[in-house]
Amino acid sequence: MKIGAPKEIFEGEARVALTPDSAVQLQKLGHECYVEAGAGYAAGFADTAYEAVGVTVVQGAAALFDAVDFVVKVRPPVDAEVAMLKQGKTLISFFYPAQNEALLAAAKDTGANVIAMDMVPRISRAQKMDALSSMANISGYRAVIEAGNNFGRFFTGQVTAAGKVPPAKVLVVGAGVAGLAAIGASTSLGAITYAFDVRPEVAEQIESMGAEFVYLDFEEQAQDGAATGGYAAPSSPEFREAQLKKFRELAPDIDIVITTALIPGRDAPVLWTKDMVEAMKRGSVIVDLAAERGGNCELTKKDEKVVTENGVTIVGYTDFPSRMAQQSSQLYSTNIRHMMADLTPGKDGVVVHNMEDDVIRGATVAYQGEITFPPPPPKVA
Ligand code: NAD
Repeated sequence: MKIGAPKEIFEGEARVALTPDSAVQLQKLGHECYVEAGAGYAAGFADTAYEAVGVTVVQGAAALFDAVDFVVKVRPPVDAEVAMLKQGKTLISFFYPAQNEALLAAAKDTGANVIAMDMVPRISRAQKMDALSSMANISGYRAVIEAGNNFGRFFTGQVTAAGKVPPAKVLVVGAGVAGLAAIGASTSLGAITYAFDVRPEVAEQIESMGAEFVYLDFEEQAQDGAATGGYAAPSSPEFREAQLKKFRELAPDIDIVITTALIPGRDAPVLWTKDMVEAMKRGSVIVDLAAERGGNCELTKKDEKVVTENGVTIVGYTDFPSRMAQQSSQLYSTNIRHMMADLTPGKDGVVVHNMEDDVIRGATVAYQGEITFPPPPPKVA
């Protein structure tokens, strides 16, 4: 099959869905690779790097869509891209079908198949295709780098001839994929790191990474963390009060807060309130990774960096993976390459779109002119 990546057209998006390395692996599966001229440039991959490994570089998105059977992309397609799809072609990209109903209907009408990378089931076998996790890992790491960039002090404590420097104190709220990556980056830079999650089972993971789990004065911490598939459920008012009370105690002493708390299908819970921001020291930093879904901090402004009157910087960027485009393109294109490997069982360039396969079925949201979202639950864990 012919597989190709167009240049991303979402403003500011620097990632690309195909790298020269992933093209080499796709060729080993028997596929031919294409890329739109300039598609990898912002992520550090020149057209010549693609040509050097046998990728065909074509001019313009129309020529790319026309040339290939599989269009691989990062962002969901815009209308103009959907218009270039047709029967016999397959699109693989992030799609968020629940939020993009009209887009899904339009894609289905073209007759093309659509595989949504955000719909890959979170089962063990599919981890290598789990692009939400690979991007969340980057966001967590980058959130710490961003915090450091806006923080006027060291993370680590030092005793120097010029004076003693105390270590920074970092609080990570939410210890899913992004939160654990943030904890890892923060402890490796030498900060004293605290973390909280409503799922008490992550306490051990947090502690094994050198951070301290924040326990609440609440009788049964477990009751609210209980949810399905490792995801959190909304907290009861009593639990939420206990959580906010603990955060209020911590706020004056914490230098950096990284929030990552999300509950599937809902707006982000507000956990760092205005009075907590006001209680923080001048020069403190909050990086809110939940900004896309409304923010965990009451004062977050999506896609902006604001400095409050009391000198606290609040970062609400939503494009952290794109800010590390080379790394994220490498990981994302590897996720796509693994998806293509599952679609090419004979490693002979022949695609078998097996709708009996849990992973392929779960991620396929449009197939042969039908909408196939939502999928049935996976049969295997
Ligand atoms: P997420 O992005 O949905 O949420 C981030 C974190 O916020 C979660 O840990 C959640 O418990 C926490 N949270 C929610 N409300 C909170 C509150 N009020 N206060 C503090 N924290 C709160 O999570 P995610 O990163 O997508 O991971 C969710 C789960 O899925 C984890 O258990 C993870 O290990 C699991 N997972 C499994 C696979 C796999 O098996 N293939 C892949 C990725 C993730």
